[in-house]
Amino acid sequence: MILFRIVHYDYKIVNLALMKLFYLFLIVLVLQNCTKTNYPTNIATMEHLSAKNNPYFSITDTTKVQLSDEVWAKVLSPELYHIARQAGTERPFTGQYNDFDEVGHYYCAACGNHLFESTQKFASTCGWPSFFEADKNGVSYRRDSSHGMERIEVLCKRCDAHLGHVFNDGPAPTGMRYCMNSISLKFIPENDNNLKK
Ligand SMILES: [Zn+2]
Repeated sequence: MILFRIVHYDYKIVNLALMKLFYLFLIVLVLQNCTKTNYPTNIATMEHLSAKNNPYFSITDTTKVQLSDEVWAKVLSPELYHIARQAGTERPFTGQYNDFDEVGHYYCAACGNHLFESTQKFASTCGWPSFFEADKNGVSYRRDSSHGMERIEVLCKRCDAHLGHVFNDGPAPTGMRYCMNSISLKFIPENDNNLKK
């Protein structure tokens, strides 16, 4: 009987401690949520989250990515899949990076390959984010005769995602205009901590 009482007493203490822990956990959870709502979610964080379900996205791995359309459809958003894998084009003046001049780096939204620097971007009036130069190791080119036009398609060198087209009516020093889809790009600010990982 005494033993039972001791055990019972111990059980009560353990129970009390567990309850305390549970309330502490609840308080931490509430505080965390409050902190979250106090600060606006920056673009980079949103992008890292959107890349979370894509195991092939890496800003450090440069090995070629070759996947079936079936796999791409599973890991990319429908909008990105349409542009990257079906050579779609986003509507002009609607893209996130069209009117955007933050300092940082642009990566392929499908695989994380480095494509452009913010210093290579210029304010174009065409309605899509435009660059006068690309990372030579980041992009590849292909002749595109679709829609009754002769154009040069720009693709990601690592995963062959469609990015946009390049024209020869850009500004100095190159005279080139890389006309890109915002959806195909992922911007990471210069001082983003995720770059150090
Ligand atoms: Zn890519």
